[in-house]
Amino acid sequence: MEARIESAICPGCACLCDDIDITVVDDRIYQAANICLWGASKFLAHKRFHPKKERRRLQQPRIKQGCLWQTVPYEAALKRTAEILTRASRPVIYGLTNSGSWAQEAALDLARSTRARLEPADLAFKAPYYRSLMKHGLFWASLDVIRDEADTVVFWGANPLHSCPRHVVRYSVFARGKFTERGLEERRLAAVDVYRTELAEFVKLFIRLEPGQEPALVQGLLAALTGGKPPAIRGLRRLAALLEEASYGVIFFGRGVSYGPAQELLDGLGELTARLNRGSPFIFFPLTADFNSTGLYHLLLRELGSPLAPDFGHDLAGTGQAEPVAWSEVDAVVVVGADLFWFLSQEEIDRLKKRQVPVVALSPFANRTTGHAEVVIPVALAGVETPEIAYRMDGLPLFLPKIVSTHLWSDSRVLRELTALL
Ligand code: SF4
Repeated sequence: MEARIESAICPGCACLCDDIDITVVDDRIYQAANICLWGASKFLAHKRFHPKKERRRLQQPRIKQGCLWQTVPYEAALKRTAEILTRASRPVIYGLTNSGSWAQEAALDLARSTRARLEPADLAFKAPYYRSLMKHGLFWASLDVIRDEADTVVFWGANPLHSCPRHVVRYSVFARGKFTERGLEERRLAAVDVYRTELAEFVKLFIRLEPGQEPALVQGLLAALTGGKPPAIRGLRRLAALLEEASYGVIFFGRGVSYGPAQELLDGLGELTARLNRGSPFIFFPLTADFNSTGLYHLLLRELGSPLAPDFGHDLAGTGQAEPVAWSEVDAVVVVGADLFWFLSQEEIDRLKKRQVPVVALSPFANRTTGHAEVVIPVALAGVETPEIAYRMDGLPLFLPKIVSTHLWSDSRVLRELTALL
């Protein structure tokens, strides 16, 4: 039987595009239209940007017995996970930026009941941002307002073509808004990065920096805007002029900013945005790739009053920690909605393995973490095989209905049943 679903929401990235048309045949997704290759990789289970390479789905829970894998029912995998968490004195629940809001709530409850630390996968990127936001008292705008009003757009350490591909078409570059009717022609665009990216093909000004030079550029821009003497950095004066001429501006920054001294850079960018705000509205906006990273920080703010990583091992109030966890202290990890081993250095992976730190991975797809985990628990795809809530990158909450059926449990169910066992 064939069914067509119009205006479905794509859980591929934090744009959560809501104009996807899906064709379902016999309870399987047969076709997806209006979607980018990144999003299609979720609906059609192929590798990101490689539609001919299949992305392997996990079908059954498995646990490691000695060197051998054993396929087990969910209940046995949960029992083993509960034993691991009960034995641990410094457990960490990691990831959750690619999980729906119900799973995030369940993970927070699990962290509380096991006195664990809950570590968002993008803490190194978001914690300095929230601190800068609070320090400089910056305001916020939705993507729709940015599409309608922004005539000056800067991408800093961000490449939307890789992290959220349709962002440029729907909101920031080519999109036609109420006061930007001619799209690209109405916008002055700049990008700052340590690599030359595809953005260089269409932005008016592309500044390529040496690694570590970014804080100097920010201070130079502040100096140029306040009549001081900026350092000699190629493109600095042109960027300062572009920012000054804005009638409504936005600085989108990406994960690239967390590869250097993130707090110093984001403090500087926050100060620059505050300075620009004296002339015209300017927004400082994280270009979040993971589809529900924003939902996780909303949950932490709502429940605990802080967007930092709650650590229930320190106190039951879950005091927020801005610094990423020291993996040398950790003695058990539950990974949900992230691929931890993709981000860790080889030395950190080797040290975790040497100390035989048990890793439990909940994931719809096979990845590096599931390859190293002691317990692997497959879960349904949120927003495709199980309903969920997710927050668009600007904080708009959306309900993602189920599109097709699966025998797999949702990650929120796995986490709730696990908490009930403890
Ligand atoms: S931009 Fe993001 S939400 Fe939109 S179709 Fe692509 S992956 Fe999906």
